[in-house]
Amino acid sequence: MVLHSMCRFLGAPFSRRRGERREEPGSGKAMARGVAYVSPAKLLAMARGNPRVAIIDVRGGGGGYQAHTAGSPHFPSRSFAARLPELARATTDKDTLVFHCALSKVRGPSCAKMFSDYLSENKEESGIKNIMVLERGFNGWEHSGQPVCRCTDAPCKGTCPPEPEPESEL
Ligand SMILES: [Zn+2]
Repeated sequence: MVLHSMCRFLGAPFSRRRGERREEPGSGKAMARGVAYVSPAKLLAMARGNPRVAIIDVRGGGGGYQAHTAGSPHFPSRSFAARLPELARATTDKDTLVFHCALSKVRGPSCAKMFSDYLSENKEESGIKNIMVLERGFNGWEHSGQPVCRCTDAPCKGTCPPEPEPESEL
């Protein structure tokens, strides 16, 4: 049914977004202010049991939120700029934010950069020390076998039970 087509949408390639600003070769330097990439396995180890790490999902709002990392707030890239103050308020008790979109090629890194700039320009009260981007995005996270939550809560409460072990079904 509908859920199914949404899943397909999730995996859609970015070909239609070719016109978007490309990452420049030297962009690693521009993002020196604490924005670094983190692998799915490393992020899982960092976030597990650490309430000061938040994973921010910036994928599109139109059905891209079926599967997600447990507890990740959803700030779609389309309205991201307008919601910067809201995100800052929602994350005052965090020290590390990790942004991702589906592939973390364009939207994830650009939202991370935008938030980093926002914090330094507005001198918001914020304990955030690290702003990171999840390497290969949600798709990479899911494909590398990290836990995925499929609840329909908005926002996700992060209490989703782990997916049942396949062996119990057999
Ligand atoms: Zn959830």
